Amino acid sequence: MLVTTKKLLVPARAKKYAVPAFNVNDLEFLKAVMSAAEKMKSPVIVQTSEGAIEYAGLDYLVAMIRVAAKGKIPVAMHVDHGKDLKTIKAALDAGYSSAMFDGSSLPYAENVKKTQQVVKWARAKGASVEAEIGAIAGIEDFVSVEEKDAHLTNPAQALEFAKETGCDALAIAIGTAHGAYKFKGKTHLDIDRLKKIAKLVKVPLVLHGASGVLEDVVKIAEHHGAKLGSARGVLDSDIKQAIKYGVAKINIDTDLRLAFTAGIREAVDEMPKVIDPRKLMEPANLLMREVAMRKMKLFGSAGRA
Ligand SMILES: [Zn+2]
Repeated sequence: MLVTTKKLLVPARAKKYAVPAFNVNDLEFLKAVMSAAEKMKSPVIVQTSEGAIEYAGLDYLVAMIRVAAKGKIPVAMHVDHGKDLKTIKAALDAGYSSAMFDGSSLPYAENVKKTQQVVKWARAKGASVEAEIGAIAGIEDFVSVEEKDAHLTNPAQALEFAKETGCDALAIAIGTAHGAYKFKGKTHLDIDRLKKIAKLVKVPLVLHGASGVLEDVVKIAEHHGAKLGSARGVLDSDIKQAIKYGVAKINIDTDLRLAFTAGIREAVDEMPKVIDPRKLMEPANLLMREVAMRKMKLFGSAGRA
């Protein structure tokens, strides 16, 4: 069934587990995620960035995700990193049950004002809103924050921001980065900062840039020709700590991209005579499903649907 992110995240924070939010761009990703959710009996957030909406088309995405949400698994349809108010409005009008407004690169007052606008639109549609305070380093579709300019979330400001905007969930910056190259040197999250934020801010917290960059998946990709160099992700132990201290939504994009890349490379490499796209896509789908299932176990969302 299609639900809001609020409906999924409030119990998650209370019971100390996190709901995985997977970025999807097409049917292959969506089917892998849904098959994992059904197998693990996990609630799931299916999210599309502005880049995904441009790539696949809003109507196609909405139609596909609606079908995915027809079964028993609670599914939220969410706009990830919405920066363009027009796109967010269009998505809410088209049936998204949740949207993120990312005003983290804006001056504080403007971030508040635009988030309030999105909250107003979402309320009228019965949808929920994720907002962001503090910038997350790295690169996501259309969002580029230089690592040196990234600033971590200030706990007192996060409280003020959550109160002023009325957002349903808050994305915070505690040291994660988007992409496959998250850390140079230090690999730990700022858990002390998270504890302080969680003490003040009672809405569910969201962790972006939280892929693990799984070693075995990277190995398969590299074995078949990928050059990923020093790709490094967030440690499972840090993810567990983050969930313990209030993180209830964890975004995973890079790990599915890596699984897809590894599976495709393997298929093309090992089946040189095959031209059936379904056969070529199969290892990628299976690997994406496997990775999604591992996240549901790690986050404690398995068995919660
Ligand atoms: Zn993000």
